[in-house]
Amino acid sequence: MSRTLPVSKNDYIDVVFEDLTHDGAGVAKVDGYPLFTVGGLPGETAKVKVIKTGKSYGVGRLIEIYEKSPYRVDIPISERHKYGGCQLEHIRYDGQLIYKENQVRQALTRIGKLEDVVVHPILGMDHPWHYRNKAQVPVGERDGQLIAGFFKPRSHEIVDTDESVIQLPEVNEAIQTVKEICSKLAIPAYQEEPHKGVLRHIMARYGKQTGELMVVIITRTADIPHKNKLVEEISKRLPKLKSIVHNVNSKRTNVILGEKTTVLWGSEVIYDYIGDVKFAISALSFYQVNPVQTKVLYDKALEYANLSGEESVIDAYCGIGTISLFLAQKAKKVFGVEVVPEAIEDARRNAELNGMTNVEFAAGEAEVVIPKWYKEGNAADVLVVDPPRKGCDEALLRTIIEMKPKKVVYVSCNPATLARDLRILEDGGYKTVEVQPVDMFPHTTHVECCVLLVKK
Ligand code: SAH
Repeated sequence: MSRTLPVSKNDYIDVVFEDLTHDGAGVAKVDGYPLFTVGGLPGETAKVKVIKTGKSYGVGRLIEIYEKSPYRVDIPISERHKYGGCQLEHIRYDGQLIYKENQVRQALTRIGKLEDVVVHPILGMDHPWHYRNKAQVPVGERDGQLIAGFFKPRSHEIVDTDESVIQLPEVNEAIQTVKEICSKLAIPAYQEEPHKGVLRHIMARYGKQTGELMVVIITRTADIPHKNKLVEEISKRLPKLKSIVHNVNSKRTNVILGEKTTVLWGSEVIYDYIGDVKFAISALSFYQVNPVQTKVLYDKALEYANLSGEESVIDAYCGIGTISLFLAQKAKKVFGVEVVPEAIEDARRNAELNGMTNVEFAAGEAEVVIPKWYKEGNAADVLVVDPPRKGCDEALLRTIIEMKPKKVVYVSCNPATLARDLRILEDGGYKTVEVQPVDMFPHTTHVECCVLLVKK
């Protein structure tokens, strides 16, 4: 027999929000039954309509707030379109930092059963606005006009924007300029249904340290109408421009970039620096989007690794080798592993660019390559991991436990899988010494952490 729930669908009820979920929704409890409501903030009392009831939790819609949190920010409707991708737009920045730190602490105790770990106060940004060095905006049409901005949450409806509060001004300007020129030249926007039209996305990347700008035009068709005029106008109007790239994506897909990339103007790559390390960034390369906080995060990883110059280091999930090259400045030798072969090509090119000869890169799955290295007698003194959201593969964690590096530095973008993996490493003989949350993505729910573990 099923237990009767304290609320039913379509009920209007008064609640008090106590907490926030990992995706930023308010949590209220009705006789112990959790109700998740987008927009609710801890401490607020509100009227909510129940829109869904599941076995272990329900979902509400915010109807009216009776008492507002001091951390609430009300964005005027006229400014709304500037907040695409900002799930925490309704929370003041100091409140966001409290939320993120809590997310980390809760995951460590609830999932990791780590009661006495030192969690440092989160490192936030002094100016948490206009930080992103990259934007890729979908393009559509409304009333014969080109529109571009972001998709409304859980929909494919485009919100037209002239500015984003989280993108660097140079990135905003590039997107707007290209949008205006395309509109003037009447280049047709892509239409998802019926899979017709031309212009799908406009992308801009900016090297904050070098001042170099790249524009990528993503189309369904191999040809762009008025291509020469388009290139001429863009290059004339954006003084920091170093590269215009054309990418063709002819598929019916949500994936932004397609199979074919050609340079229309300027160079194939732009450059940027993180600290003293130089990186070449192509249209398709992965590169951290918040240059200021990336430096903060990598400095912390370097501090935790505490290298003397004698160590052999493995950087698992190395991407284009950003952390590897950072560590190589202080290590005897660094071995980077990454599953995407193109990223490994970038990593090797970046090592060369910096004249670093003490790094080697291998393409493959970390959980396959590192056990193989270990069997061949190659162990590391320090192991750094920076896995995707799903965390480390268990085979890799088992190899770490066997290999017994003195230190493990775990860089994580998901506190839940981090906590799960820390528990496995703790049970395998490691001690979690300290956890440093870093806010890499202000106004979004994402939390990054850098963690130091030592062999017990
Ligand atoms: N350390 C890099 C990138 C981290 S993102 C940086 O700071 O820039 C995580 C990376 O893990 C991605 O590049 C992804 O392609 C890679 N990856 C995902 N699964 C992997 C696996 N099983 N083995 C190795 N790399 C993997």
